[in-house]
Amino acid sequence: MFETTIARESSAEGVGLHTGVRSHVRLVPAPAETGIVFRRIDLDNFPIEAQGHNVALVSYATSLMKQGVLLSTTEHLLAAIYSCGVDNVYIDIDSIEIPILDGSAEPFMQMLGHSGIRRLRRKRRYLKVLRSLEVSQGDRRIGIYPAHEFRVRCYVDYPHPLVGQQEVEMLVGPDTFRHLLARARTFCFERDIEPLRAMGLIRGGSLENAIVLTRDGVMNGPLRFPDEFGRHKALDLIGDLALAGLPLLARVEAHKAGHSLHTRLVSRLLADPSLWTITTRETSRSHSETYVPALSQAPAPAAD
Ligand SMILES: [Zn+2]
Repeated sequence: MFETTIARESSAEGVGLHTGVRSHVRLVPAPAETGIVFRRIDLDNFPIEAQGHNVALVSYATSLMKQGVLLSTTEHLLAAIYSCGVDNVYIDIDSIEIPILDGSAEPFMQMLGHSGIRRLRRKRRYLKVLRSLEVSQGDRRIGIYPAHEFRVRCYVDYPHPLVGQQEVEMLVGPDTFRHLLARARTFCFERDIEPLRAMGLIRGGSLENAIVLTRDGVMNGPLRFPDEFGRHKALDLIGDLALAGLPLLARVEAHKAGHSLHTRLVSRLLADPSLWTITTRETSRSHSETYVPALSQAPAPAAD
């Protein structure tokens, strides 16, 4: 297996979910061993590597910060790039937050589809996990375990008739990501909107870029999947795991986790080199793709 970049540039524009600031984002081909690097083109192309040591505040979205330069809401774009096996790319952005677009990773998959993948000459390096690591906080937990391929299992449980318990388990790759996760959108609870606004968040939020859950239903249906919420959380998880900086050979299990636990896991993993090794050896991959559908007992709305 060889490293990759994109074959040609692609771009998109829109508002940031939390800042409400309009920005343009452009994917640009990058040479081998660059990794995934954001460049703030409004600040002299200041580079911010998509790596664990640049993680800043993490609450309702994942933000990176380097030398005081901030970049918010990286997770959906990184999930698409990482799942598609793009090792090297510059992400040029002219503002502080990646556009939320429709709240899913689908528009970023379209950008990547337009860009295409180009193989480079250098052998791809993987971060292969050798020993398990778990991080927990109350009843929320996340663990990473040795495996010969990159798998995730993501479990959520929200006390809401349309959500409840939902679980996704999958081998991460371009096809599984495209079919199972990419279209799943961000969501929030109607009761949280005013408190979040009061905190200066979701200034760019609208019914066009987030599913809003009311007390017993959804304000802006139809859902794209009956278990769109669990799928979106798995998408977020993969986007945060991209901050490992290399493709993972590991199995990750998240139980009611979120950005904070995801990024803590990545930071602790990278901080302890006894937990992993870097290898160029392609390991045997099974092509099994499994998906465990929603466990929710509630009647599910029809998917569109
Ligand atoms: Zn998200």
